[in-house]
Amino acid sequence: MAETLEITGVSASPGVAVGPVHLAADVTAEALALGDTMASEGDKLRQAVATALAELEALADRSDEESAGILDFQIEMLLDPALVEMAEERIVAGDGAALAWFGALNDYIADIEQAPDEQLRARAIDIVDIRNRVLSALTGRPLEDFAPGSVFVGKDLEPSLLLQHDWTAGGAIILFEGSVSSHVAMLARSRSVPMVVATGRFKVADGVRVLVDANDGRVVVAPEDQQINKARSRTTEARPTVPSRAGGVIETADGVAIRLSAIVNDPIELKSIDPSSVAGIGLMRTEFLGNVFNQETHYDVYRQALDWAGDAPVIVRMLDLGGDKMELGVGAKESEAFLGRRGIRLLLALPEIARLQARALLRAAAHGNLGVLLPMITVPEELDAMRAIFEEEAAALGRRGVQTRMPEIGMMVEVPAAALMLDRFLRSDFFSFGTNDLAQYLAAAARDDQSVAALYNAATPAVLRVIAQGVALAEAMKKSIGICGEMASDPQHIPALMAAGLRHFSMAPNRLADIRSTIAGMYSDGRAAAEMK
Ligand code: PEP
Ligand code: MG
Repeated sequence: MAETLEITGVSASPGVAVGPVHLAADVTAEALALGDTMASEGDKLRQAVATALAELEALADRSDEESAGILDFQIEMLLDPALVEMAEERIVAGDGAALAWFGALNDYIADIEQAPDEQLRARAIDIVDIRNRVLSALTGRPLEDFAPGSVFVGKDLEPSLLLQHDWTAGGAIILFEGSVSSHVAMLARSRSVPMVVATGRFKVADGVRVLVDANDGRVVVAPEDQQINKARSRTTEARPTVPSRAGGVIETADGVAIRLSAIVNDPIELKSIDPSSVAGIGLMRTEFLGNVFNQETHYDVYRQALDWAGDAPVIVRMLDLGGDKMELGVGAKESEAFLGRRGIRLLLALPEIARLQARALLRAAAHGNLGVLLPMITVPEELDAMRAIFEEEAAALGRRGVQTRMPEIGMMVEVPAAALMLDRFLRSDFFSFGTNDLAQYLAAAARDDQSVAALYNAATPAVLRVIAQGVALAEAMKKSIGICGEMASDPQHIPALMAAGLRHFSMAPNRLADIRSTIAGMYSDGRAAAEMK
């Protein structure tokens, strides 16, 4: 039997869980074994092509004659080295495997679509199919999952793995490194998955029982029953008692209306939110959707959200790739991840992806109250460039008779150079503060680095000053402004955010009850209602 061992880390998502350890594969060692980047991108591509081929062959084996014929054509195409060679040329020029494959296949598809021969033109859809199958092998394929109810232990955890895993049977996350402000921590909080980060490396075997007391940032390997009972009894005491089913607009003690909207990271979350309990969706992240290269995936998800919301607004944020989220293998060094090509910068550098998402958004906007949020805007020209993409795509869809509507296009306020100059962004229809990033950029302290977390937190007064100034500028421009960073989920920050003038807050649905009762007990200037008496 394993010996009891207690380890202290930092709580990134509260809660208590007990379960067997699932030890993650050591990705660092694997990554080093891959050798130089260019060779590994080429290898990744060839491996993905081999996976796609195996899938197609298996599919052809169990298909009828007609379908097998179509699949055989796709198999022939994939066996032809020409496609991989076209992508490899792009890898040599610096693209990652996914991007290289996407770009090369798109060029090829565009050529086929222009072909004079009708039969050849009809084959374009097969190439689209091949493109998507290989891409999903490269990017969208779920990573190695683990048994429900177990406790993931590793250096870090991919957001997509957290999202695809079934947490209904319990379980928790322990990261040797990691940070409270990282995306994966944010997702754990929104799913109520207990998580402890920054424990440092410790030795534990697969399958050993651990207690994760994430209320205290504590991990106990091979715990005594008594320790488990004690941790569990404290959780039951801490449960919030406020009902969560109340409207999305709440009044402060002096009668000022405050809007509370949901943040959604995965459409599956909509199933557990009552639409009448929120003022719509204030932020729908799209970077965790799975196959981001597929327009129909985007469109279906947006339609689902709009149908769920009825007349209420649904604000969809365009892909905020880069940083600590999925990157497209475009070669960003780790140190550059947050300061390099991320969000709008990457979208404008990869217009094929931006256009694909714009088309899905334009089509979906015809069916509800859709707004579009642009991530990481620094200068007005970025906003103008994306608007131009929307206008061009709307015109192109219109020529094909596809029904569209131009949505309102607003921007995240998360880069200090933009946050201080909102009056320059006249073409932004609305604004939303992204304080998770604003804090890291103001403090020059990366959000995914727990060793500088104290500095990150120390940026709060600076963040609040920038917010107060931004709210005044937006009001002078008669544009709406809200907040969708994690600060809006923390009752401690609500008084200062109200005092700064914010009236629209977006948060993970499991934070609504707490924030609702906090706001109901205060005046609009942030003072507690009791203080005035
Ligand atoms: C933010 O930066 O505050 C934000 C809401 O966006 P994300 O956390 O996805 O970067
Ligand atoms: Mg952000």
